[in-house]
Amino acid sequence: MAKKDSTNMLVDRFRAAGFKITPQRMAVFQFLEGNTSHPSAYEVYEVVKRRFSTTSFATIYNTLNAAQEMGLVLELTLDPKKRHFDPNTSPHHHILCMKCRRIDDVRGKVFGDFNIDSFEIGDYQVTGFGVDFHGVCPKCRAQQH
Ligand SMILES: [Zn+2]
Ligand SMILES: [Zn+2]
Repeated sequence: MAKKDSTNMLVDRFRAAGFKITPQRMAVFQFLEGNTSHPSAYEVYEVVKRRFSTTSFATIYNTLNAAQEMGLVLELTLDPKKRHFDPNTSPHHHILCMKCRRIDDVRGKVFGDFNIDSFEIGDYQVTGFGVDFHGVCPKCRAQQH
């Protein structure tokens, strides 16, 4: 498959922020671009290591941290056992399967036309909120029977 270097937004923005793009970092961003599986740092590491056997976990971890600090990827903390990463940085909710630990996006509006501006908590000015769901995914439900 031809490399889509010039169309990879993550690579472009990472480079624009002054970071050097190494082949390993390129592989990280190629794996993440458009990825909806919410991989953990270790999963990203395993994919990159298949192509670059000398890659260290620290390299992957540092790249993901830098990308997260720049707002290129979201860090998901709903699984207390692992950090997961999501290249979709627009606001959306997640659901964690308590059996296989997969994370899916929650589609549609969960709270209808909830208006954050008219929501009050004590004397706080509320600027946002985070809600994580957990449950049992379709695959695990099928195995329960
Ligand atoms: Zn599951
Ligand atoms: Zn997501």
